Amino acid sequence: MAFVVGGGCVGCGACEAQCPVGAISLDSGKAVIDPDKCIDCASCAATCPVEVIKEG
Ligand code: SF4
Repeated sequence: MAFVVGGGCVGCGACEAQCPVGAISLDSGKAVIDPDKCIDCASCAATCPVEVIKEG
């Protein structure tokens, strides 16, 4: 299981800076989480200002 970025991402990059394993990248102005790297720490979900990152 990995966290996923839902619709509504504003591409601010806040989550990318928080991820301890570098699983998040920005693609076409949206954050994308690599499920193979994510360790389910929830740091990104807590950081997202628009609260669109959820456990997948
Ligand atoms: Fe990175 Fe943790 Fe978010 Fe997974 S849950 S993408 S490891 S910050």
